[in-house]
Amino acid sequence: MSFSSMMTLKCPQCEEGKMFKGVFKMYEHCPNCGMKYEKEQGYFTAAIFVGNFLYGLVVAPTILIMSAIESPIWKIALVLGGFSLVTVPLIFRYARSIWLYIDHITDS
Ligand SMILES: [Zn+2]
Repeated sequence: MSFSSMMTLKCPQCEEGKMFKGVFKMYEHCPNCGMKYEKEQGYFTAAIFVGNFLYGLVVAPTILIMSAIESPIWKIALVLGGFSLVTVPLIFRYARSIWLYIDHITDS
C-alpha cells in the first residue's frame, strides 16, 4: 500500500484499479480486483470528516493571510467562494480515497 496509489485514487487492495469513473461517480467494485468500495450503507459518512479536515487545511491559512493583510470581508468571501468551486471536487475524491485507505489499513 503506497501513498502514491492513494493520491492517484487507486484501489487500496490491488493499487491498480481506479476508484472513480466520473468527477463524483465511483465504481461500486474495483475494476481490477473486485474489492467492494462502499462496504455498507453510509460507509463514506466518515469521509465527510476527512473532507472537512482537508478543507480546513486550505481555508484556514487563506483566511489568516487575507485577514493579516486586512482584506475586506467581501474579498475573503469572494476568494473562498471561487476557491471552493475548484477544490470541492478534489476534496470529495481525496477524502473518499484517504478514508478507504485508512479503513483498509486498520481493517487488515
Ligand atoms: Zn483493486
